Amino acid sequence: MSNCAVVGINWGDEGKGRMVDLLTQQFDIVVRYQGGGNAGHTVINEKGKFALHLLPSGIFRDGVVNVLGNGVALDPESLMNEIDNVAEKGVSVTPANLKISDRASILMPWHKKLDELEELRLADKKYGSTKQGIAPFYSDKFQKKTILAGELFDEEKLFAHAKEILEWKDLIISGVYGAETYTFEDIAAWLKTYGERIKPYICDTTEFFEQAMKEGKSILFEAQLGTLRDIDFGIYPYTTSSNTLAAYAPIGSGIPFAKIANVIGVVKAYSTCVGEGPFVCEMFGKEADDLREAGFEYGAKTGRPRRVGPVDIVATRYGVKMQGATEIALTKLDILSYMDKIPVCVRYLVDGKETDSFPFPSKLADAKPVIDYFPGWQCDISRVRKWEDLPWKARAYVEFIERSIGCRIKYVSVGAERDSIIVREDDEQ
Ligand code: GDP
Repeated sequence: MSNCAVVGINWGDEGKGRMVDLLTQQFDIVVRYQGGGNAGHTVINEKGKFALHLLPSGIFRDGVVNVLGNGVALDPESLMNEIDNVAEKGVSVTPANLKISDRASILMPWHKKLDELEELRLADKKYGSTKQGIAPFYSDKFQKKTILAGELFDEEKLFAHAKEILEWKDLIISGVYGAETYTFEDIAAWLKTYGERIKPYICDTTEFFEQAMKEGKSILFEAQLGTLRDIDFGIYPYTTSSNTLAAYAPIGSGIPFAKIANVIGVVKAYSTCVGEGPFVCEMFGKEADDLREAGFEYGAKTGRPRRVGPVDIVATRYGVKMQGATEIALTKLDILSYMDKIPVCVRYLVDGKETDSFPFPSKLADAKPVIDYFPGWQCDISRVRKWEDLPWKARAYVEFIERSIGCRIKYVSVGAERDSIIVREDDEQ
């Protein structure tokens, strides 16, 4: 099996975890290459229902090695809680099935604190941070003021480095925000507690990958969030602080020399968006409430109600292009079964003109959706496993999206469970 990336095409929460869980049976290694504990992947399988934040979704498959690459925000405290949670349900996480890059930077307690303090300061101008410390973490990484996981192995140097960064952090925490600072003892104790727990998993993952590639092992790159949250090409500044695009996957994984043959873009059959920022196709009122309830659209990490809308062709086509998607997985088609007519955002209206192009971020606030309607199928499709068994109205809806975004929809998901999937053969129209 060639290397493959599973990425979000839109605003995140498209159902990537569900797709990775399904596809891991074909791969030897699953690697997370960006982001941290700020978003959640929900996976339902024979072991139970899990909300994963940092752990790769391959953790449930025997024989799959999971890697946290250098590009992730490594929060050892949250990671350990997550490992304990899955262990309670019988999923064992050991240095054999989880490897952490020695070049991953550690997300420290001050990152979370600074995230909270800044959201408080911004008040009604806030970006809608999940307060997991992600923005302060990546800012520090680019200021070269983070501790690398590999530093945990030399306590003397580690503590000297931590002390240096802490002095600078305390100036900001007390001077800028007037908040309570950390003592070195607090930080040293935290590093000792959580550092000791993650140490067994830390290794040179580039070396691990090199060897694995020589042995012909296949790699699945697992993204977090989606195209529109990419720091460079998303709806800046309402993005995350890392690159969510497939093109970044080899770098954030620690194998810049690897090639990705397939990029599976995950698209939900309607749109959702968490937090602040422009969301052109947004629905309101009862129409929105009904869809949110039908799809149970509440944040996996925060429980926040998600904003909802129809599938957005303009944003999705842009997402497909920027991800270099080679095939699409369309999820949650079953959720639309209650609708008698299904809205689709086919174009945007910007400055009085209709457009197919995704606008520059600051222009998005002026864009209005142009909506078309498709006839609903209004029957339960959650047990359908073959393309030809779907009602023709459902097939027409999927085919319209496929034509409009210019990418083959190979997978159609009709339920959260592993086998609730229709895999279309290449010649199936
Ligand atoms: P991710 O971050 O991209 O993995 O997205 P989420 O964790 O928000 O996953 C989407 C949610 O929808 C999860 O609760 C999944 O179990 C669920 N889900 C995924 N695919 C389907 C589907 O086809 N139908 C239904 N009903 N639920 C799905």
